[in-house]
Amino acid sequence: MDALATTPELIPARMLNEYVYCPRLFYLEYVQREWATNLDVLQGRYVHRRVDQAAGRVPRAEAVTAEVAIHARSVEIGSEELGAVAVIDVLESDDGQLVPVDYKKGSAPDLPEGAWEPERIQVCLQGLLLRANGYVSNYGVIYYVGDKTRVRVEFTPALVTRTKQLLADARALAVAGSLPPPLVNSNKCPRCSLVGICLPDELNHVQQVTGSRPTAETAHGSDKAGSVAPDVAPARREIRRLFPARDDNKAVYVQGQGYTLGLRGATLEIRDKGQAVDAVRLFEVSQLNIFGNVQLSAQALRALASQEIPILHLSYGGWLQAVTAPPPHKNIELRCRQFQAAADPAFCLKLAKALVGGKIRNSRLLLRRNGRRLPPEALSQLVALRDLVERGTSLAELLGVEGSAAREYFRYFSTMFKLPPDDAPPFDFTGRNRRPPKDPINALLSFGYSLLVKEMVVAVLGVGFDPYLGFYHQPRYGRPALALDLMEEFRPLVADSVVITVINNGEIGPDDFLQRGEAVALLPRARKVFIEAFERRLDQLVTHPVFGYQVSYRRVFEIQARLLARTLTGEIPRYIPFVTR
Ligand code: SF4
Repeated sequence: MDALATTPELIPARMLNEYVYCPRLFYLEYVQREWATNLDVLQGRYVHRRVDQAAGRVPRAEAVTAEVAIHARSVEIGSEELGAVAVIDVLESDDGQLVPVDYKKGSAPDLPEGAWEPERIQVCLQGLLLRANGYVSNYGVIYYVGDKTRVRVEFTPALVTRTKQLLADARALAVAGSLPPPLVNSNKCPRCSLVGICLPDELNHVQQVTGSRPTAETAHGSDKAGSVAPDVAPARREIRRLFPARDDNKAVYVQGQGYTLGLRGATLEIRDKGQAVDAVRLFEVSQLNIFGNVQLSAQALRALASQEIPILHLSYGGWLQAVTAPPPHKNIELRCRQFQAAADPAFCLKLAKALVGGKIRNSRLLLRRNGRRLPPEALSQLVALRDLVERGTSLAELLGVEGSAAREYFRYFSTMFKLPPDDAPPFDFTGRNRRPPKDPINALLSFGYSLLVKEMVVAVLGVGFDPYLGFYHQPRYGRPALALDLMEEFRPLVADSVVITVINNGEIGPDDFLQRGEAVALLPRARKVFIEAFERRLDQLVTHPVFGYQVSYRRVFEIQARLLARTLTGEIPRYIPFVTR
C-alpha cells in the first residue's frame, strides 16, 4: 500500500492532536478519511461557530512590532519545511509576538500542566508554524469555553522537541500505511467519535479468542489465517458497547404513485397533487426509499445529499434500481483490498463458506424455533448440508449445497405458520419460486429480500465498499454482489422472519394479493404493512452472539460489514457470520 500511503500533504495540527490521543484515530481520520459525528464533535462545532468565521488582518512578520495590535479569527497557516498546516482559532499579539489561541469545549482539566497533552502539542505546533513563517511566538493559549479559562502554554525547548518528534512519528505512520491496533480497554474509547468504526473491544476480543494478530499478507487465502469454522467463542463477559444500540433516525419510504417530494425549510414534504400528505424533518431521516413513479425536487435532492442521506430508487415491485449517495467513501485503501481479495479464489471460497454456513445455521434455527410437527429429518438434513459446506472445494460446489439447503428449508417453511382452527394452512406454499413469484408467500419473500438487499447496499456503502464486487456472488452487470453476499446470513433472521410474523399475526391475509396471470403481487396496503413490520424487525434489539451486547439488526448489518472490512485489512483472521444461538 506504499503508493497510497505516501502523504505529500501537510499534516493539520488538529490531526496531530488526534495522533497524540490515539495513533489509530489519527490513521483512521487522516489516512483513511473516516469521519463520524458524536456529541463531543457537535459540542466542539458549537464552541467554534464564531471563531470559525475568518475575520481580522494579520500583517507580514516584519511589520509586527510591539505597537501593533492584532486580533484575527480563523487564520490558516502552513509550512512545507515543517510539513504541517493549521487553522488558528484566534491570533492575538503580545508585545511584538503572536499568540495562537485554541478554543476547546469543556473546562480546564485539573493538571499541573493546565491542559491535556494533545491540546498542548496542537497549540505548540501552531506556534512552530508561526515561527516558520517568520513571526515570534513563545507561548500559546488554550481557551476552555466551559469555564472561560485561559491556560497559558509556554513553548519550552522540551515541548518543541516533543512536538517535532510526534509530528515526525505521525508522518512515518501515515507513510507506513499500516493501521495501528486498537487501544485495549482504554477509557479514551468511549469518548472517541470513531468508536463505532474502530470497534476496539470487538477486535481485541476476536484477536484474543482466535489467538492471532494476522497481517494483510496472511489474511487472504492462507490457511494460517484461521480455519473456516464460523464459530468464535462468545465473550465471557459482555463487551463494552461504546456506540448507540440503534439509530434514532428513520428510514423513510414513499410509495404513492405520482407523489412528489419537496423541501419546506428543513423539512422533507411528501405531496400528492400539490397537497402535503406527510412531512419529516431532514435531521431525522437516515435513508429515503422511493418506489416507482415518485418525483424529487432538485432542492430536496441537494439537501439530502448535503446531509449524506442515501436515496434508494426502487421499482414499484421493490427492486433496487439506483442509489443516489454522496461521492464514494474516501477510504480507497479498503476498496483496493476488496479488489485484491475478490481476485483471490482461496479467500473467496473461505468467505463464501462462512456466509453459506451462517445462512444454513440460521435457517435451521428458525425452523427449530418455529416449526410445528417438524419431522426429525428436517433438521438433521440441514446439519448434514452445513457440514458439506465446510468440505466444499469450489464456489460452484457451494452454490449446489446452498440450493439443496434452501429446498430442504422451504419444504418445511409452512410448518412455521400458525394453523387456523380448521387446521387448514393459511396459504398454499410448496417451495420457492420467483421472477415472478407465483403465490402469496413467494411474493412476500421476494419483497422481503429486495428490502434486505437495499439495506445491505446502504451498510456496505457506508463502510466504504464497492457494493457491486462480491466474493461469493460473482460480478454481473447491475447486481450488488457484495450486498447479496452479506445478506445471506440474514435472509432467515430478517426477511423470512418478517414473512412469518405478518402471516401469523394476521396482519396480511389472502385478500392482500393481486393475481395477474402467473404472477402474484402485494396490494398497496399489504406492502405498507410489510414495510412497517420489516422496519420493526430492523429496529429490534438482538444479542450479538459473539460480543454479548444488544444492538438493533440494522446496527448488526453495519457491524458485520465492518468486520468484513477488518478481515480484508488483515486485522482479524476471518469473517465471523452472525449466527444466533
Ligand atoms: S475507539 Fe479507541 S482505539 Fe479506536 S480510534 Fe478511538 S481511541 Fe483509538
